[in-house]
Amino acid sequence: MKVSSHINDLFTSICYRIGYALFDPGDEWDGFKEVDKVLLTHAHFDHIYGLNKLMELKPDIKIYTNEYGRKMLLNAKMNLSLYYEMPFVLSNPVSIVVVENDDDVRLDDNLLAKAIYTPGHNPSCITWVVGEILFTGDSYIPGIKTVTNLPGGNKKQAEESLKLIDELATNRQVYPGHKI
Ligand SMILES: [Zn+2]
Repeated sequence: MKVSSHINDLFTSICYRIGYALFDPGDEWDGFKEVDKVLLTHAHFDHIYGLNKLMELKPDIKIYTNEYGRKMLLNAKMNLSLYYEMPFVLSNPVSIVVVENDDDVRLDDNLLAKAIYTPGHNPSCITWVVGEILFTGDSYIPGIKTVTNLPGGNKKQAEESLKLIDELATNRQVYPGHKI
């Protein structure tokens, strides 16, 4: 299973790609438009700002997040973009697919991505389990304490989510949401 990645200019958030699935689109990069779905680890601005550009290139693309993430994609205050003077609202809400905890998203014939809700950093946080890989977003960045002081953050939930991620990380490789 080949994972490609790109470190974005904004806050060194990381965009990953497996096959035709992109995780957390920011800057445009090689292969950016060769995808048919986007999975979000959460809907903070630095993990979503490439979405409108991507939808111009691929109007039929689907975006997988939870219900809270759906609200954030449609609200520049909630996704924090307003505070960086780059207000971002998703141009085509019809593209959003809301996933429940434990839902599977099919990436290809042989590959599923399982959505595990890991709130604490933010209520939209999902850790995606793809075979031997975990995409943890900002729920778990090795070497960094999970940030819980942004709107919607919750320290207790973050501790519980970290325990869960720790279990999931047994025999799996972690791909976090930022380069440190
Ligand atoms: Zn974040």
